[in-house]
Amino acid sequence: MEGKARTSVLTHFSLFPLALSGSEENLITDSRQVRLATGLFPVISLLNHSCSPNTSVSFISTVATVRASQQIRKGQEILHCYGPHKNRMGVAERRQKLRSQYFFDCNCPPCEREEQGPSQGPGREAFCCHRCRALLQGDDVLSCGSTSCTESVSRDHLVSQLQDLQQQVGIARKLLRNGELEGAIQLLLGCQHDAESFLLAEHGMVGEIEDDLAQAYAALGDWEKSATHLQKSLRVVEVRHGPSSVEMGHELFKLAQIFFNGFVCQQLLIICYVQSPGLEMGTPGRAHRSSSTMVL
Ligand SMILES: [Zn+2]
Ligand SMILES: [Zn+2]
Repeated sequence: MEGKARTSVLTHFSLFPLALSGSEENLITDSRQVRLATGLFPVISLLNHSCSPNTSVSFISTVATVRASQQIRKGQEILHCYGPHKNRMGVAERRQKLRSQYFFDCNCPPCEREEQGPSQGPGREAFCCHRCRALLQGDDVLSCGSTSCTESVSRDHLVSQLQDLQQQVGIARKLLRNGELEGAIQLLLGCQHDAESFLLAEHGMVGEIEDDLAQAYAALGDWEKSATHLQKSLRVVEVRHGPSSVEMGHELFKLAQIFFNGFVCQQLLIICYVQSPGLEMGTPGRAHRSSSTMVL
């Protein structure tokens, strides 16, 4: 038994997810968990917690479904996550949350491993050398980890570079919301270039920029470019949250929508072309642009 829940089943409440969809014209929707109501699930409440569970729980209306997220051997305990997941927060924060809400100290394998020592490898929010892209190491002044490179830079400089980048991304998102798609894309492509020069490939900001670009291209109806950027975002999400995480599921769902919309557009154009052979084929997205505002 990995996480020993001492609470009664009656205090183990669950959240109902809300699919956030935009206007009726939206072809791509997003979904995030929002607390809508509290329900009692006496059977699911019997599952113990792990910060790295082997199942995921989803809700459709008032029905909760438990799905295996990895191979579960015969006799192996079925575990799910009460919220604090190892990919989203450190061991101290997870334990504090579980203690205050469920009144137990988690001793699951990830908690014990993290307690024995910090995880190996560079932090995902680390900076990289702008000359050779090797990891930068150090405290106030960071030096390139490559033996053949003598580059060094102050942490203050990198932090202010990151703040500038965040500001630019914020402006691009405003343009995106206002429907100024070309302007947003130009700005985001510049941000992507800047990010690559000093952030590790799996940095959260890199993934966010790719996700924003996917959204902008989807709004233009350029499904191919949208899918390319979303796949890059997906790689960052996989490294940061794990291949069987809810976050990964959301990204894959978006990708499926993009492929589906791209396929539908292509089929519509073929039908139009067959019915009116003189029709100029052009770019699928342009024909679609005025009628679609995508929310990824
Ligand atoms: Zn744990
Ligand atoms: Zn270097």
